[in-house]
Amino acid sequence: MSGSDTDALTRLDAAELARRVQAREVSSVEVTRAHLERIEAVERTGLNAFLHVAADQALAAAAAVDDEIAAGTVRSPLAGVPVAIKDNMTTRDMPTTCASRILDGWRPPYDATVVRRLRDAGLVPLGKTNLDEFAMGGSNENSAYGAVRNPWDRTRVPGGSSGGSAAATAVGEAPLALGSDTGGSIRQPGAFTGTVGMKPTYGTVSRYGLVAFSSSLDQIGPLGRTVLDAAMLHEVVGGHDPCDQTSIDAPLPPVVEAALAGARGDLAGVRVGVVTELSGEGYQPGVLAAFTDAVRVLTELGAEVVEVSCPSFTYAMPAYYLIAPSEASSNLARFDAMRYGLRVGDDGSRSTDEVMSATREAGFGPEVKRRIMIGTHALSAGSYDALYGKAQKVRTLIVRDFTAAFERCDVLVSPTVPTTAFPIGDRVDDPVSMYLADLCTIPANLAGIAGLSVPCGLAPEDGMPVGLQVMTPALADDRAYRVGAAYETARDAASGVPFASTVPDPAALETAS
Ligand code: GLN
Repeated sequence: MSGSDTDALTRLDAAELARRVQAREVSSVEVTRAHLERIEAVERTGLNAFLHVAADQALAAAAAVDDEIAAGTVRSPLAGVPVAIKDNMTTRDMPTTCASRILDGWRPPYDATVVRRLRDAGLVPLGKTNLDEFAMGGSNENSAYGAVRNPWDRTRVPGGSSGGSAAATAVGEAPLALGSDTGGSIRQPGAFTGTVGMKPTYGTVSRYGLVAFSSSLDQIGPLGRTVLDAAMLHEVVGGHDPCDQTSIDAPLPPVVEAALAGARGDLAGVRVGVVTELSGEGYQPGVLAAFTDAVRVLTELGAEVVEVSCPSFTYAMPAYYLIAPSEASSNLARFDAMRYGLRVGDDGSRSTDEVMSATREAGFGPEVKRRIMIGTHALSAGSYDALYGKAQKVRTLIVRDFTAAFERCDVLVSPTVPTTAFPIGDRVDDPVSMYLADLCTIPANLAGIAGLSVPCGLAPEDGMPVGLQVMTPALADDRAYRVGAAYETARDAASGVPFASTVPDPAALETAS
């Protein structure tokens, strides 16, 4: 295949790729090969979005789908389309590292439910994407395997922790990717890379096989270049799973139908609430400008826009940074040098405790250690009531704020992040400034509701993408897709070019230089 064929196929969205493969205009093998070539060209420039590429398995899976389609069987609307998987979801034929040294060499014996569902639906896993170690971070700089670069500006972060999945999707290494979102890790890198990212309602996408960070907040979700693509992937992985005790036994909201309806229709009768506490002072001017413009578009589409106040959101960040590390300190106790991956100092002269401690010392990076220490402290007898218990009370207040707001509005909107993607290295020495990148996304995780990030233009001061966040009540994820798709259609109609086609191409830059 020539370079231009590769480029053409890797620029198409997943819905169109699926249509062509299923109509046998192009084979899944050709589509998969094009993406593997794209990965090779882009990774050569140092993007570092992938930790593992499974070329042979991908081509074999694609060939099997082609055979089925030739025999008249189409497993799902996305059959034949490649997908990238964040490396904190287990895969039986690929390593799972969580971007941590402690899982060096670990081969999971089973597929996460979402991975099994991808395979069952005939999607083609390309490989595993880079992340902040154990999904702890907002910039991807906490990976033990090096930072990911932002394709829009290689000196900047792609966001985190699903930075590899977001960068790969933005730049056409994969048309679709899975991420996980504990405090914003799908939506925030979505905003930083100009991709669409969705954190579904808690309990609606199985966490079985997602390596646990903070179990009451973690949620797997889709990334794509269009709202419809994200909805299509959401539909494949979502729905009840008996293997996950927190899985909700209810039908998945009609997310694809909503995305299609949104793209065709207006927003007449939709009540949109702008959250007072999630904009204003401290926000980057270009982010506020892009957000204000997006709200104007929603109004033009017929939405009724009101301002709503959620006063407890002010305490969401400190509450999150107690609850998430507390759960992490307990979840990460399983990495004990005995069961998984790395083992340091096991030379026969040391006790189990000494090997465990040497392994954890060598295997965990600084941010993971910081969180284990904060969490252990917050849960200790002398601090529990003042720290962990207080944070749980704040969590209840946040749920109440959302409940009150959703009595007046169908969806709530805000910027996804207060700033655009920041330069690599800028915030690594200042955890608190790093934590601020999650200010707008954390409330949805604490309340278990859904949140979508849709690109809403570029900030004039740095030319970097800005995200519009659309939050919905639990189990009303479809509303976010409807509003997101309506906005996306109006946005592209106004500019005359699909936003997704404007991502700079690092491979082309490389050839040019
Ligand atoms: N950036 C946030 C954190 O560091 C959120 C991470 C996530 O959602 N996985 O915890």
